[in-house]
Order: sequence, then structure tokens, then C-alpha cells
Amino acid sequence: MNDQLPDDLTCWQYLEHAASVVFKQFGYHEIRLPVVEKTELFARSIGQATDIVEKEMYTFLDRNGDQLSLRPEATAGVVRAMLQHGLLHNAIQRVWYTGPMFRHERPQKGRYRQFHQIGVEAYGMAEAELDVEVISMTSQLWRKLGLTGVKLEINTLGSPESRVEYREALVEYYQANRDSLDADSLRRLETNPLRILDSKDKAVIELNKSAPDVIEYLDDASREHFERVQLLLEKLGISYIRNPKLVRGLDYYSRTVFEWTTDKLGTQNAICGGGRYDSLVEKLGGKSTPAAGFAIGMERLVELLTIEKLCQNRKRQDVYIVQTSEAALEIGLSLAMEMRDAGISVISNIGSTGFKSQLKKADRSGARLALIIGENELQTNTVTIKLLDNGKQYTVSIENLLTDVSSYLENTE
Ligand code: AMP
Repeated sequence: MNDQLPDDLTCWQYLEHAASVVFKQFGYHEIRLPVVEKTELFARSIGQATDIVEKEMYTFLDRNGDQLSLRPEATAGVVRAMLQHGLLHNAIQRVWYTGPMFRHERPQKGRYRQFHQIGVEAYGMAEAELDVEVISMTSQLWRKLGLTGVKLEINTLGSPESRVEYREALVEYYQANRDSLDADSLRRLETNPLRILDSKDKAVIELNKSAPDVIEYLDDASREHFERVQLLLEKLGISYIRNPKLVRGLDYYSRTVFEWTTDKLGTQNAICGGGRYDSLVEKLGGKSTPAAGFAIGMERLVELLTIEKLCQNRKRQDVYIVQTSEAALEIGLSLAMEMRDAGISVISNIGSTGFKSQLKKADRSGARLALIIGENELQTNTVTIKLLDNGKQYTVSIENLLTDVSSYLENTE
């Protein structure tokens, strides 16, 4: 679990802001939920036999003896809240959320015990257009962030019925090849055979190459649905590859699943995962309601944005005001107020009155401009502007200051 320090947070805020803008553009509204839910909610939704529920949840008894867990993901809680507040009755709903999630995993680069997700959920639309909408929201976000080179993988898991048949075929195949299975896969063969498909074990990877493909087991409606998803992605120019081994680690998915990956982050290469989960609402006690969503892993995306230098300059301040006397301070304070009203960020010097030490502080603050109000400036109703990137300076009259500073900030990076 990591502290998030001011230096890192500029990139986080850049991402949060961009995501909230894109989500709003698609008609999604924010929802905020508790980080603690009843354990049973996660067991019923994510699945008893999944890694998350079996071994990764932070679970405890509270003072009433209720068994609670820190949320390992947000979808289950969103469905719980939508049902509890009656938001799903014959209604189309589009929501987004962000916040910390908790999984007791083996910590490593890109895998933490408290991590953050930002994601969306949409309810009441069974059509392939929704799958494509949520996928295109992510690709719109990458464009907004300036991120290129990430890859989209998609697959389908079919309907719950076709999945039963597929599951049987997989069990038969793995039973016949038990010798090649590692201990983990042998265990999964009993509990959750689909997960053997995304095993990282070398022998199992080899075995998986000839494993039955879900595509052969789809019912007609699921096949048509998947074909339409692919057609619309192609029309939108969103490239993808079909990965028949993509099953995702949570039980509630049906039909389309997808993941965005990068080759810049080492083994923890998935930055976003999602898909359709048409049976979850009913499973949690509501009327059958189709749904789809995704979650972006924020630590990984921030790391990627940093590697790609897409967060640079984001923490820069615009202006630092250097003022060397009481009279200059008064003018400086009201200029600062005026500039902030105009949307410019301004740090007013506090403390040390020496000119040199204030300029040093201006340099260290990351500001792009220092505005100097000294004796000369006071007498001539002017301000000296020092461009902190190259040390050049010039003097302008107080009346022109705002226009001058604004146009400098607008026209330079
Ligand atoms: P999931 O909820 O497992 O589908 O994960 C969605 C995304 O959250 C993944 O693609 C990762 O980017 C991110 N994620 C999942 N688990 C972790 C973790 N333990 N630490 C950091 N990021 C994670």
C-alpha cells in the first residue's frame, strides 16, 4: 500500500480529469460508494472459486459479528447500490467511479495491495453497441491522454449455457492431458477450469495452444453478438486482436470480455479490463438486467504515462510573485487575486524579503514566470516579468500585465 506524494499526484490528477471529461462526454455520471461491503456480496458476484475471493480479500468481523471485506473491485458494489436505490427499474443507467481497491496479492511492480481503479458500468442495454461504447470510451481516453501503442485484446465467453458446454469440453481436454498440468491448474480443473487458459506455467501454455476454442461452442445469439462487436470496432477504426485465451479472472462475465495491454510495463501488462456481465444483477437479487463495464488500473496507467513523458510540465505553476517591500506586497497580493480570477496559478512569496532568496524560491517552485515588484517598479507603476526557463526579463505597465502574462502562458508550452 503506497503513499501518494504531491509530486506523483499531478499525473494522477491529469488522468482523473481526462477520464472524468471523457466519461461525461459519453453521458456517464459519477457514483461514490463505501470501501467496505458484506463479504458475501463479493463471494456471490466475483465467484467463490476465484483467486480474489479464495485468497486475496481483506476480510474481518466487525463488532456485530458481521463478516465484511474491503472491496477488491467496484462492480459488485455498484450493482448492490443500484439495486438498493431502485435505479435499475426499466432504466438505462450509465455510471462511473474511482477509488481504492484492496487485494492481498504478492506485491511487485504494478501489483499492489491497495491500488486504484477508475471505471464505468452501464445497465439496461443488451446490444453489442454497448460493448463497443465502453471499449470506445477507453480508446477515446487514450487519445485524450496522448497515449499510443496500447493493444486491445477481445474475446467472448458466450452465454452461461454455452459456457457449461465449453467448460465440459475443457475439462475433458485437460483430464486427458493431466500430466502436463501444474498443481495450480490441477486445482483449477476442479474449481474453475476456464482459468487454466490464462495460466503462466510453460507446459500449460504449450498445452493451451491446442485447447478447445470457445468460438466452437457459442450459441447463435452469442456468435452474432460477437460478430457485431467486431464489425463495429472495425467501422470505428479501433484495432484489436482476438485472444481466445482471454477469460478474465472474475466469474460474472458473459459474452464480450476485453483487456488493454502494453509492452512497456513488464509482466503486469494489463492497464484496463472489462466486459459484459448480463447475469450479475439477477444473481444479486434484481430483475434480469444486461450490463457492461471496465476498470482501468490507475497505478499502471500513471506509470505508463510517466514512461511516455505524457505528464511532464503538468505540475508547473504559472507565476511566482517576488515583492521586496510592504508597499510592493500590497500591490502583489491584489495582482495575484486578479490573475487567479483569470484562471492563472500564482504563488505569492511569503517570508524572506531578500530579492535573491525570493528569486531562488521562484526557480524552485516550478513557476514559469517570476513577477518582480521592486522599488523601480513601484515608482513607475510597472512589473518586471522574468521568464524562468531562459532568464530573459522585460518590464510592462501594471495595466498591461494580465494581458501580457495570459498571452505568454497561452503561446508557450
Ligand atoms: P480486474 O478488476 O482484475 O479486472 O483489474 C482491472 C485492472 O486493474 C487491471 O487491468 C490492472 O490494471 C488493475 N489491477 C488489478 N489488480 C491490481 C493490483 N493488485 N495492483 C495494481 N493494479 C491492479
